[in-house]
Amino acid sequence: MEKLIAHLKSQGFIFQGSEIYGGLANSWDYGPLGVEVKNKLKQAWWNHFVRKNPYNIGLDSSIILNSSVWKASGHIDGFNDPLIDCKKCNSRWRADKLIEEFNSEINAGVMTENQMEEFIKEQNIKCPKCQACDFTQIRKFALMFKTNQGVLEDESSSVYLRPETAQGIFINFKNAQRSLRKKLPFGIGQIGKSFRNEITPGNFIFRTREFEQMELEFFFNPSDEKDWFSYWLNEVETFLQDKIQINKENYRVRSHEKDELAHYSTATSDIEFKFPFGWGELWGVAHRGNFDLNAHQEASKQDLTYLDPTTNQKVLPHVIEPSVGVERMMLAILWQAYHEEDLGEGNSRIVMKLPYNLAPYQIAVMPLQKQQNDQALALYSNLLNNFDVTYDETGNVGKRYRRQDAIGTPFVITVDFDTPETNSVTVRERDSMEQVRINLDELETYLKAKF
Ligand code: ATP
Repeated sequence: MEKLIAHLKSQGFIFQGSEIYGGLANSWDYGPLGVEVKNKLKQAWWNHFVRKNPYNIGLDSSIILNSSVWKASGHIDGFNDPLIDCKKCNSRWRADKLIEEFNSEINAGVMTENQMEEFIKEQNIKCPKCQACDFTQIRKFALMFKTNQGVLEDESSSVYLRPETAQGIFINFKNAQRSLRKKLPFGIGQIGKSFRNEITPGNFIFRTREFEQMELEFFFNPSDEKDWFSYWLNEVETFLQDKIQINKENYRVRSHEKDELAHYSTATSDIEFKFPFGWGELWGVAHRGNFDLNAHQEASKQDLTYLDPTTNQKVLPHVIEPSVGVERMMLAILWQAYHEEDLGEGNSRIVMKLPYNLAPYQIAVMPLQKQQNDQALALYSNLLNNFDVTYDETGNVGKRYRRQDAIGTPFVITVDFDTPETNSVTVRERDSMEQVRINLDELETYLKAKF
């Protein structure tokens, strides 16, 4: 992981947040190349789950919502983590995570606070920082960031930064359904920032306090016999395998046991990824019943039911929610892509084997020598019309190839001595390092077929 972090920094993918001021704990900034990958990932998700899905539409709701939303959704009263302090060094921990790190077979999410306290005592679990076995009692730690809106700083002006994008979708269910005259079943997708005051953020970009989510709330009539849960779980796997090329052996699907399920949920599955520090949740797919719409209907006193045009009956739709974090997905993608390769004869390279559709640049154009600069620049400008292209004329060819490998550029085109006479260039593929000679008249067709 440390090598990956250093590589991503040196190549302009991810920088430490607020670095020139000594940093801000667990905040990360996306550099010129990181933002390209992030945008392409979001675009791929949006295409698959919104634009190209026959049922779904999109939304972009506010980060700050009326606080009644969070009261109704249960976040104000119930969105907290079990906080425990080490009496010796005063460091703070999430009790459930301490237990799960002590024994990964245990699911502390189903334990009560008392059970967790007893377990920590009985097993003599040590403070990861100072190794003492002396903890305080567990306290509930609220995860929502609170702030004030407007000039008054009292309770009436208290607002929260959203801890998930989902509630913005639920409160707009009726607006979206009516304005687009949608019939059930249909889904609403949203991509946006969420904030959680996590007790123990860490593992690079796996758990941060500010992050982005890509969430879909799929609404259907509970009398609909189709198994929509399996349908969406399947779509999630299709996306992972076909759209962003996550290897099958790097992820697994874990169904929640009955006692692990939220009280309103009849099924939840986590897609877990094999991160460098072990298996961790990447994507959650949850059957939420009508819990959220019902809560908002009761609290807002608005009719949020859907009138079924065939039966003329009012129904409160049920919901399947696939929810994934952009940065967690980035970590999975970047980790899977990072390769150190020994090329023999003392040569080696670091290559980011990113899926072609997520690489910051699709193509690099370079002249072999100065004499070809003009022709290479002309080709670069031409290709910019249809591809994401970069241009590189500094250093020897070998170095330039390594540079493009290090940032994951799938194809490097070299303009050389023979180009003017033969009207052809060399195209080198990143992973195989194979080079082919392509006629300039066929170049665009050749490249388009590759993407
Ligand atoms: P965890 O158990 O890891 O805290 P969660 O079950 O609370 O996650 P959800 O509330 O289901 O997570 O959020 C949906 C998705 O949002 C997660 O699968 C994850 O990809 C992402 N996510 C949640 N919290 C964070 C965070 N602090 N940093 C980055 N991504 C996050």
